[in-house]
Amino acid sequence: MTLPGIGKKSAYRIAFYFLRLEESLFNQFISNLLSFKQNLRFCNVCFGITENEVCDICESNLRESFVLCIVEQPEDIFFIENTGEYKGKYHVLHGVISPLDGIGPEQLKIADLLKKIDSGGITEVILATNPTLEGEATATYLTNTLKDKPLKITRIAYGVPLGSTLEYADQYTLGRAIKARLPFQ
Ligand SMILES: [Zn+2]
Repeated sequence: MTLPGIGKKSAYRIAFYFLRLEESLFNQFISNLLSFKQNLRFCNVCFGITENEVCDICESNLRESFVLCIVEQPEDIFFIENTGEYKGKYHVLHGVISPLDGIGPEQLKIADLLKKIDSGGITEVILATNPTLEGEATATYLTNTLKDKPLKITRIAYGVPLGSTLEYADQYTLGRAIKARLPFQ
């Protein structure tokens, strides 16, 4: 078994760390890991991760319920929350449209999304799928599916990474950054 983002060197480092770790701490870690796997489930509303039937974000009255950010995977919620820039709600698709892998819209949480939008109260959706071929195709599909609904549809912007230089941005990223330019604040 391999873990995402953990190469051979890191795997060795972790293995030796566990070897040296005091037994009670190691047992605690294993029991936390087991409870993580056993207690977490998908939220009934946004399909993100939660310990309850409905997650804290969906339950919260402090979040703007008229804006819905659409992401590919539950972990994307964590990344966006980490920015502290978003106060709305989420909807997790649980994948992207990928004909080569046999994944069409019906395999994703798109029917649930349409039901949610048709039940009213949502005025904006933010398409926050990844800027990959499949992520873009999914965003395009959703735009076409939602275009007749009274919604503002926005797509997350792409640009040159902060602290980087134009020289190191690939031509597509730089092209998108020029097209999606914003007034300077
Ligand atoms: Zn939720």
